[in-house]
Amino acid sequence: MASAQESMCCREVDAFWALVESLTPRPDISCLTQHPGFEASCLNPFVLQIAYMSFRQEHGPLQASKHEQYRYTAYRQVVRWAYGILGRHIRKPLPSCVVSAIRRQFPEEGGTYKGFEW
Ligand SMILES: [Zn+2]
Repeated sequence: MASAQESMCCREVDAFWALVESLTPRPDISCLTQHPGFEASCLNPFVLQIAYMSFRQEHGPLQASKHEQYRYTAYRQVVRWAYGILGRHIRKPLPSCVVSAIRRQFPEEGGTYKGFEW
């Protein structure tokens, strides 16, 4: 993982782990990426296309490849899911397991990624 901020696990970040802890009945899972809502909201391309339309309406189109667009939107989705509404300039690093799962689903040709920037 490129940056130290992305090296933590979802279990170390209250906002992310609370999503797992709040499932009832609590399933025997050890990572947010195994949460049924993760696949549904962060890996499903149809959901991401709709979320991207909302982003695009407000901010304009991203100059990015299709998979980069999906990854960016998925990161926004998981932050919204974990933290709710954040101020425009507040950025949160993502757990490495979350970043890896999103990159696996939407890989970049050539395999170079920017990683988190404050
Ligand atoms: Zn995890």
